[in-house]
Amino acid sequence: MLTKHENAKKMIIDVWDDSAHIVENLPSKRKYDFKAFVNIMYGCNNFCTYCVVPYTRGREKSRKSEKIIDEITELAKKGYKEITLLGQNVNSYGKTLDKKVTFAELLGEINKIEGVERIRFMTSHPKDLSDELIYAIRDCEKVCEHLHLPFQAGSNQVLKRMNRKYTKEQYLNLVNKLKKEVPNISLTTDIIVGFPGETEDDFEHTLDIVKKVRFDSAFTFLYSIREGTPAAKMENQVPDAIKKRRFQRLLDTLTPIVFENNKKLKNQVVEVLVEGVSKNDKSVLTGRTRTNKLVHFKGKKELISKLVNVKITTPKTFYLEGELINK
Ligand code: SF4
Repeated sequence: MLTKHENAKKMIIDVWDDSAHIVENLPSKRKYDFKAFVNIMYGCNNFCTYCVVPYTRGREKSRKSEKIIDEITELAKKGYKEITLLGQNVNSYGKTLDKKVTFAELLGEINKIEGVERIRFMTSHPKDLSDELIYAIRDCEKVCEHLHLPFQAGSNQVLKRMNRKYTKEQYLNLVNKLKKEVPNISLTTDIIVGFPGETEDDFEHTLDIVKKVRFDSAFTFLYSIREGTPAAKMENQVPDAIKKRRFQRLLDTLTPIVFENNKKLKNQVVEVLVEGVSKNDKSVLTGRTRTNKLVHFKGKKELISKLVNVKITTPKTFYLEGELINK
């Protein structure tokens, strides 16, 4: 299209009707030269009733595993150490491929790529989190001990109206399995407060999950209408004042738990991938642990892109302060 435009010197418009096809080998603009995001699939089939993605991005389609492996192998050759696999629901990766490959199998293949040091992925839908995948997280040494597993709401009635296709009990059961198989796993989540029809009792179930799972962090949202979604037309929209009150209670429950979790890391030595310098103090470097926690410590900027060991000295709620113990 660019060539046509260059030759014709006029606007070129093309609407492609083959939305099932994935275009490979397009150039990517990458922000870092040591960590990369790699799409493994596009679209979503889940139709959560509050979400526009299935309407705007279309149905789920997976890239062929060979294409993903080739891309990551090339990235590793160029020095990329950390790969984050992206998809709306990576746990259902491979279902649309002729040659079936599960997400756990894909992780196993990426784990073998020389040069890759860390593998992350998001997002995971609880309904598709298989035992096979839990074992892959446990057994692939490059897969980081962090899982972002959105639960959205704790009440089974609300989950049903959200069309999430799991119950509170199933979610907690998954978390128990994960913690048993990967004891040092850090868990993060997404939570929506004030979904249509949410009662005080429903909201208590959300708080109950937060207390039981003890998340390491959470993206918390006040429910807001997305036009064109089924939830936008649901009756019993929750008034803003109630949503805000519940939201504050959620933060008041969550924040001390996050801090408690971080406090356990005091005096521990953690591996950090150095990502850059602090905005506020140029002598301070920032990076992330395998469990995806943000760490600040003094060091030279030559360490950016390196894996270093840092002893945690002062845990805070949203980050950890530490001291470099090797170079
Ligand atoms: S919330 Fe996630 S899983 Fe649900 S429809 Fe949207 S993209 Fe799909």
